[in-house]
Amino acid sequence: MSPDIYAAGDVAAGFDFMTGKHDVHAIQPTASEHGRCAARNMAGDTTAYRGSLVMNTLNTLGLISTSYGLWDGAEGGDESDLGRQSPLEVPAPQLQG
Ligand SMILES: Cc1cc2nc3c(=O)[nH]c(=O)nc-3n(C[C@H](O)[C@H](O)[C@H](O)COP(=O)(O)OP(=O)(O)OC[C@H]3O[C@@H](n4cnc5c(N)ncnc54)[C@H](O)[C@@H]3O)c2cc1C
Repeated sequence: MSPDIYAAGDVAAGFDFMTGKHDVHAIQPTASEHGRCAARNMAGDTTAYRGSLVMNTLNTLGLISTSYGLWDGAEGGDESDLGRQSPLEVPAPQLQG
């Protein structure tokens, strides 16, 4: 690793809390945290990047929904059927952990 080269945001892969691996999250909060961490290191304050969580917040006609973690569901994970009470059929979220 070159000590004077920094990467942040969509071009950088960071630690993913969910998978334990490195990945590109390509969301604004991760880019901001990368930038803050890179800036502190550039200024001489050695700061380790702790990692981040993929998340998404959506405002659909005033209905705010947020999802965190892996998109693909989890085998045996908990399920909520609230979305199925709507005339719009949406996949039920699966939660694990
Ligand atoms: C349509 C869309 C919707 C999105 N919605 C969301 C959302 O709702 N929530 C969320 O968290 N994230 C969202 N994102 C992702 C979010 O925008 C990015 O993850 C974030 O902006 C990445 O920041 P960045 O600094 O890495 O890159 P950018 O924000 O892309 O910044 C890169 C900058 O570098 C400049 N640049 C490029 N080449 C050069 C060059 N040669 N010289 C000088 N400057 C250069 C560009 O002009 C740009 O200003 C969305 C992205 C898109 C495309």
